[in-house]
Amino acid sequence: MILSVITLFPKMFDSVFEHSIISRAVKSKKVSIKIYHLADFAQSTNSSRKILDSPPYGGGPGMVLRPEPLYNAVNKIKENNLPNESKVILLSPQGKTYDFNRAKNISREKSVILVCGHYEGLDQRFIDLCIDEELSIGDYILSGGEIPAMVLIDSVTRLLLGVLGNDNSNKNDSFSEGNFYLKGPVYSRPREFLGLTVPKVLLNGNHKEIENWRAEESQKKTRNNRPDLLN
Ligand code: SAM
Repeated sequence: MILSVITLFPKMFDSVFEHSIISRAVKSKKVSIKIYHLADFAQSTNSSRKILDSPPYGGGPGMVLRPEPLYNAVNKIKENNLPNESKVILLSPQGKTYDFNRAKNISREKSVILVCGHYEGLDQRFIDLCIDEELSIGDYILSGGEIPAMVLIDSVTRLLLGVLGNDNSNKNDSFSEGNFYLKGPVYSRPREFLGLTVPKVLLNGNHKEIENWRAEESQKKTRNNRPDLLN
């Protein structure tokens, strides 16, 4: 899978993918992550300055990313990758809410281009012409689409076959297919820590009892923290 990112701040991505699961996925060529600087797709003015943003028509605060460099970037990247099989996603607070099912669908794509906004947002004509889907990572405002793009890349990469040491690992994760409840508590060594002990049931080796206990704890956690999921 190819994940391409268009950003005003490519350096923000420098070390994020050099660790842990994503770094292994890149090394084993399960995913290729390409970061593109929006400025490289803008024409220079006479003073060799690149104009990427302008004030909004109609007035108002902030600057708006102009459509030309964004349009050039998407088309050039499509040409380089898979022209007819590239899905273009805009990270935007006005998008549909990103969740496990959307991550799963994206993980089935061959090539995805992620567009990071900034300032007041992007010229709507670029969105109308080039964007297949707008996604939000939650009901709050971040300064730019870079952190949402990182969230998407991490969560999608984990779902690619062969990326986790054991492909069954994410089947137990909260939100994964068929899991209606959040994952319950987990314990490790030592048996006692600051007076708190590991629940006895986890030590008795009875798999049926352990399974039942885990199911009850999952339901309890979901009722307490995310009752909305039970609807
Ligand atoms: N004025 C815009 C609004 O009210 O919706 C906010 C623009 S925000 C400061 C700049 C950029 O950050 C957006 O264009 C988008 O790319 C990104 N962004 C901010 N919050 C986001 C979120 N919750 N999910 C996805 N992207 C977000």
